[in-house]
Amino acid sequence: MTIDFPNKHFLINGEWVCSDVELDLINPSTGDIIGQVSAAGNDHINDAVRVARDTLENTWNNITARERSSILTKLGRLIEENIDLLARLEATDVGKPLKQARADVKALARYMEFYAGAADKLHGDTIPYLQDYTVYTLREPHGVCAHIIPWNYPMQIIGRSVGAALATGNTCILKPAEEACLTALAFGALTREAGLPDGVLNIVTGSGDTGAHLSQHSGIDHISFTGSVSTGIKIQQSAAQNVVPVTLELGGKSPQIVFNDADLDAALPFLVNAGIQNAGQTCSASSRILVQRGNYAKVVSMMTAKYKMLLVGSAMDDLDIGPLISKKQHEIVSDYIRQGTDLELAAKGKFNADINNDGFYCLPHLFVDVPPDHSLAQNEIFGPVQIIIPFEDEDHAIEIANGTGFGLVASVWTQDGSRQMRMAQRLRSGQVFINNYGAGGGVELPFGGRGLSGHGREKGFEAMFGFTTLKTVAHYHG
Ligand code: NAP
Ligand code: MG
Repeated sequence: MTIDFPNKHFLINGEWVCSDVELDLINPSTGDIIGQVSAAGNDHINDAVRVARDTLENTWNNITARERSSILTKLGRLIEENIDLLARLEATDVGKPLKQARADVKALARYMEFYAGAADKLHGDTIPYLQDYTVYTLREPHGVCAHIIPWNYPMQIIGRSVGAALATGNTCILKPAEEACLTALAFGALTREAGLPDGVLNIVTGSGDTGAHLSQHSGIDHISFTGSVSTGIKIQQSAAQNVVPVTLELGGKSPQIVFNDADLDAALPFLVNAGIQNAGQTCSASSRILVQRGNYAKVVSMMTAKYKMLLVGSAMDDLDIGPLISKKQHEIVSDYIRQGTDLELAAKGKFNADINNDGFYCLPHLFVDVPPDHSLAQNEIFGPVQIIIPFEDEDHAIEIANGTGFGLVASVWTQDGSRQMRMAQRLRSGQVFINNYGAGGGVELPFGGRGLSGHGREKGFEAMFGFTTLKTVAHYHG
């Protein structure tokens, strides 16, 4: 089975086009250049926006929700049929261990299935009003949506944002990250096979400049962005210039809070995996582990033992941890690890025996007794680094957990039902998990942040509201 998309091209109006500016694609497991991608310039962005607008008004608006649903259903099936190919493409381009890449393909297919099911379930309300009036609301697509996505989970983020935008009747322009665009292009090829009309989904590859042109374009009606806080601020400024809504998903410093009465055997896999999954390059990574004093020594010892067994190797070796995405990301994470030299390092993982020295590999690091105001306890590291912080009681746990600028995900490990409810209420976070932790998972679960983690919600049925605008119709009929 193959997915046809030509090298060095991007997708506008169902046609593969290219520019004369090329960017190298690098395999993070080896440091090798594996190909090039073409950078879309201003003219391409203008074309993509014009095409997306024409297609919206002349084609996509005339297609029923049920027809959109069938296209997304077909797309989901095609994605599943191509799981091996897509997973290998992602593993090579992004350095994800194969089993994690396969999980991402499955999530992308599941997003298509979920939003196919949701497409014809969205409806407005009728509202009691004055005598002789009938008032109702309509949920309408924003129009032309821009999706600017990062390199860490291209397929999952395409699924949650493009999936919901298409289901609600928008046309889309997708800008994948320079370091991770191959599965986005493969997805574009599959949308054509699934019968998505030309021009409904356009994909522009390139660097941050391409993203900047797209987000500043006055023809865009909605921007969905996932990535860093600094770029998120620029995107929100661009959205403000054009007065358009924006969804920002900017990462976090998400805690797991372990009380004295927690079931530690149940917690342990979540405590570690949620931190090191995708080499810690996960917006909802759990990078802070808060442990109540009575369990502190035990949790440190259990996590230390697990860390010592973690193996780092190439994506194709499919071990616990693959390489980081790039040399630049390796430098950022190494710098944070250096900032931890004043801390107690409980454990590091191990490199696989035949590791390629040109890959961007980083050992997982577990630091303990970390002061809550330390830079490693406050900043999003985006690498396989976790810290453990002790706490005394519930109030103290809340103070530390809510004590960073972020607020994306949190989890609480306790058997006490009343405490579970209190903690869920008091945590300043977009998602709270009780006795589990969902890093990145949960197609059905609304997701998004507070504070520096951003605003707006994607995933679940909630995204159907985010990608539509409400119209109120007041009908006087005498
Ligand atoms: P980034 O700069 O925020 O990139 C995210 C996306 O925005 C990419 O498609 C990027 O394109 C694009 N972009 C860059 N500059 C832009 C601009 N001025 N206007 C519009 N779009 C622009 O993130 P990064 O540089 O790849 O990573 C830096 C840090 O961000 C990481 O260390 C990590 O802490 C954080 N991060 C968070 C998430 C998350 O899920 N929350 C994901 C990735 C990174 P190019 O990549 O092609 O430049
Ligand atoms: Mg790459």
